[in-house]
Amino acid sequence: MALTLDSSVQFLKGVGQHRAELLGRLGIASVRDLLHHIPFRYLDATTVTPVAQARSAPTGADVTVVGRVVSTGVIPTRRGLRVFQCILRDETGMIECGWPGRPFLERQITKGTLLLASGPVRHFHGRQLQPREWIILGGEDEQAPSRGMVLPVYRATEGLTVRQLRRLFEQHLGVLLPLVKEELPAAWREASGVVALPEALRMAHRPARIEEAEEGRRRLAFEELVLLQLVLARARWLAKRSRAGIRFAVKRDLTSRLREHLPFELTSAQKRCLKEIVADMTAPVRMHRLLQGDVGSGKTVVALFAMLLAVENGCQAAMMAPTEILAEQHAATLGRLLAPLGVVPELLIGRLAAGEKAAIRERLAGGVSPIVVGTHALIQEDVAFHRLGLAVVDEQHRFGVAQRALLAQKNVAEGPDVLLLSATPIPRTLALAIYGDLDVSRLDELPPGRGRVRTAIREGRSRAKVYDFIRSEAAAGRQAYVVYPVIDETEKLDLKAASAMADLLQREIFPELAVGLVHGRLNADQRDAVMRRFRANEVRILVATTVIEVGIDVPNATVMVIEHPERFGLAQLHQLRGRVGRGAAESHCILMPGEGANRERLKRFAETQDGFKIAELDLAERGYGELVGARQSGIPELRFADFGRDGDLLDVAHRLARDAIASDPTLGARALRPVMMEIGRRFERGLELFRAIPG
Ligand code: ADP
Ligand code: MG
Repeated sequence: MALTLDSSVQFLKGVGQHRAELLGRLGIASVRDLLHHIPFRYLDATTVTPVAQARSAPTGADVTVVGRVVSTGVIPTRRGLRVFQCILRDETGMIECGWPGRPFLERQITKGTLLLASGPVRHFHGRQLQPREWIILGGEDEQAPSRGMVLPVYRATEGLTVRQLRRLFEQHLGVLLPLVKEELPAAWREASGVVALPEALRMAHRPARIEEAEEGRRRLAFEELVLLQLVLARARWLAKRSRAGIRFAVKRDLTSRLREHLPFELTSAQKRCLKEIVADMTAPVRMHRLLQGDVGSGKTVVALFAMLLAVENGCQAAMMAPTEILAEQHAATLGRLLAPLGVVPELLIGRLAAGEKAAIRERLAGGVSPIVVGTHALIQEDVAFHRLGLAVVDEQHRFGVAQRALLAQKNVAEGPDVLLLSATPIPRTLALAIYGDLDVSRLDELPPGRGRVRTAIREGRSRAKVYDFIRSEAAAGRQAYVVYPVIDETEKLDLKAASAMADLLQREIFPELAVGLVHGRLNADQRDAVMRRFRANEVRILVATTVIEVGIDVPNATVMVIEHPERFGLAQLHQLRGRVGRGAAESHCILMPGEGANRERLKRFAETQDGFKIAELDLAERGYGELVGARQSGIPELRFADFGRDGDLLDVAHRLARDAIASDPTLGARALRPVMMEIGRRFERGLELFRAIPG
């Protein structure tokens, strides 16, 4: 069978089942994946110094040498540090290399090894090169390269080293690169000034100069950006088609009755945002609006007013949430608020029995039920509405771009209004790049009478006191969260720490209270089960990794203990803190930093409760790239592009994508086939989004 880009890497020479599995851990399954696994950095060793010359280099000067290892050894120093040393030889002479504190290198660098080493020359019992970077180029049979080189450094994994990966590419690039074809229209490449794909991949993997590597990356970045912009432009196009907008009229029926029965007064921010939303909904053009508001700012009730405006105009309204538990929570909240009006919201989630789901679908299709709350279940093909007038997407960043747009597709004939909710404020510049002409309303005020959240920093020695405090809150009937950071769910150690913590708390600290544990390794059902017990106050203390940060509302929880807060971003800490202070009682957020953590930063956080201000601090700390990388703004993780560096490419991509969608809304042109294939590969349900719309 001929090798293609879709072939499994397993069919490559030197890659068996075992290797293929290891590559799988790096996200590499196909030949295409392999080619896109480009180095994350490079070692510039283009200028190799002959060994004899390196020996006489001034102390402290950086040199790069390539030579054969002729002997090795480990020697102790007076201070008890063990130094690995070896002698390197090339045709001009010999030089000693030394690695203080790295005796274990003895196992890796052995006699006969061909080594590239780069670092300063120092004085240590004579002249010695102390490598900062070194690369094992090969064994006895490896020939020294005729000149220096740029050495690619690949992301590796346990059992598959950087060197093995480099070998793999050396062995196969020659055969694999010719399989690659350009996918983007020539005009797009010209507009952005990037090189063709095959050339870009060659440059990224095998750059002759370091500048070439960057040129290769930029090509991949541009493709990534332009594909994303196409999907966004399409989503916008669908949302905005003006011919299809529904023009709602203010009837003062259900909306007025909700206002009468509301157990609280709307904040002025809520009133302002609502006004903006009503103005959109009563205009002939479709609404496409983002409602941004800090945690607890009361987005749900604002959305409910909008939903009722649709309903009193004879339409239906749907609200989609990212998890079942959030959907249930919204259904319960809406149910309470709507009870005096005699409206009962439907709840459509995956775990319902098939018969129940079918009955709900029937009521939605028949127009019997005006309001539905649900999860992804709402965008399944078999769900149809009688007349959907408003699509609300809560925690919108948790959905893919395509998924967000699909809810609005449930009324193709008229095109419902779209309201996106988000608790993550993002800076205006970035919002523009990501959402284009999306309108934004900001809820920048918290409802009054909310219990305050006091934030305190406590040191390890006060741990017993913190536990006593939790105990006293529990005695008063309250509940507590204890958050433990798990940076990467694949990090077994971190996860162990969180479960060990839960165990310890249950057995030794709070034997009289029920302690629960949720973490990202649990599946959605398991996680929801624990969360339900917490909400029902059966679990009193919830130990959690950051999986709780999204939208959960348990007003009875008044304590949030965060272990190792230094490991979280400020915006993330703010989300976590927002889980308490949701009832009338005063709440507490207790930060317990580890040794050496930067307390200043935590103090700044403790001093403010303003989410927008914290978002700015967070951005200053982490920069755009990280912010987007953390998937906080609802766009897929970018692998090659970086908003900081590639702003120019983003502009071009944005413009090209808009023009393309404007002239060919389904991108049906033959020349764009390869582009569509790529969209299908990269975006979940991406192709569905581009399907032609009847009518
Ligand atoms: P979020 O913006 O985080 O989604 P919610 O919509 O869940 O916030 O609202 C948080 C809590 O505040 C809910 O219990 C809600 O009923 C309550 N709430 C909303 N608006 C007001 C208000 N104007 N006055 C008092 N409480 C309010
Ligand atoms: Mg919410």
